[in-house]
Amino acid sequence: MVAKIISGREVAEKILTTDLKNRVDALNKRNIKPKLVVMLVGDVKASASYVRQKEKFAVKAGIASEVVRFESSATEDEILNKIDAINNDDKIHGVIVQLPLPDHISITKVLNKIDPSKDVDGFTPTNVGKLFLGEETLVSCTPKGIMQMLASTGVDLTGKNVTVIGRSNIVGKPVSILCQQQNATVTMCHSKTKNLNAKLSDADVVIVAVGVPKFVDGSQIPEGAIVIDVGIHNIDGKLCGDVDFESACEKASAITPVPGGVGPMTVCALIENTIIAAERIN
Ligand code: NAD
Repeated sequence: MVAKIISGREVAEKILTTDLKNRVDALNKRNIKPKLVVMLVGDVKASASYVRQKEKFAVKAGIASEVVRFESSATEDEILNKIDAINNDDKIHGVIVQLPLPDHISITKVLNKIDPSKDVDGFTPTNVGKLFLGEETLVSCTPKGIMQMLASTGVDLTGKNVTVIGRSNIVGKPVSILCQQQNATVTMCHSKTKNLNAKLSDADVVIVAVGVPKFVDGSQIPEGAIVIDVGIHNIDGKLCGDVDFESACEKASAITPVPGGVGPMTVCALIENTIIAAERIN
């Protein structure tokens, strides 16, 4: 079998320039101009490139975006005070604080400070709780993008076996909940899982978010499974994911590439969440 490539770049482009652009036009008619603020603390090279992509996608959908930069020496109070000001600014609909943060700043305190109605990363306890309860919320971006890519393949997850490898708060846990909400049977694997290959053997969908280059290869993937590769690594100047793409392509029916897979969909979901936050304004 030669896998079909699920191009996150193409799916994102289509969502941004059709559905999202139309929704922004409708908001503009109501005199609402959706605006996203990205807070960047310090000089992390990877963060800067993510931020550039966010700005580019904001332009495609027609929303405003602003980057607020802080020196890595900025105090926790300075960051919290800025979030407070953003929470109270009616012209700003979404805010994210780009992670990682310098060690002296508490991620928990920062996330707890963000108004959940502007939490377009979906990381606040309120929004995570709503996701868990199946209530309407701002769903965190990488899991949301993964679900949109799965939907783009036309797969109906009802009764399907989904194996998720990785249980992080930002990917593994939320994506497993979203798959369950679509009636999949989900197997969650992590660093203490025994006999991982057995957990993969009857998977219809495999989602890999481990953070180890080429952790899963084609020999572990059942014939015809859909593979979502969340990982992203720069090995000697070449990007790769958590899945060995070449060997996986020989077994999977469809697979996301790295780069051009989950990455662009994550940013697209962020823009959509900002639009949803603006749409919720009466
Ligand atoms: P994380 O480090 O927070 O979590 C990794 C998870 O993998 C843990 O739950 C751990 O239990 C599990 N794990 C580690 N070793 C394992 C093993 N040997 N067997 C089974 N499970 C094991 O990672 P994360 O934040 O979920 O990110 C995972 C990868 O996805 C990273 O490469 C990250 O850069 C990438 N990522 C990409 C995007 C994107 O937009 N493209 C977004 C988020 C994360």
